[in-house]
Amino acid sequence: MAGAYCQFCGHRCFVYRVLADGRGCHLATCLRGMAHDRKVCGQDHTTARNPHAEADQ
Ligand SMILES: [Zn+2]
Repeated sequence: MAGAYCQFCGHRCFVYRVLADGRGCHLATCLRGMAHDRKVCGQDHTTARNPHAEADQ
């Protein structure tokens, strides 16, 4: 998926997140992409774990 363009906004709006089930994936940060992620993954980039922010938590 790296390097892919978002089908909703046409940009590389993805950020890396770890889902509740432990799966790592790239989630969209645009509104329509987030809605799609919530439908498909049950989470969007604001609710899934950010492995890069662990030190801040
Ligand atoms: Zn997008």
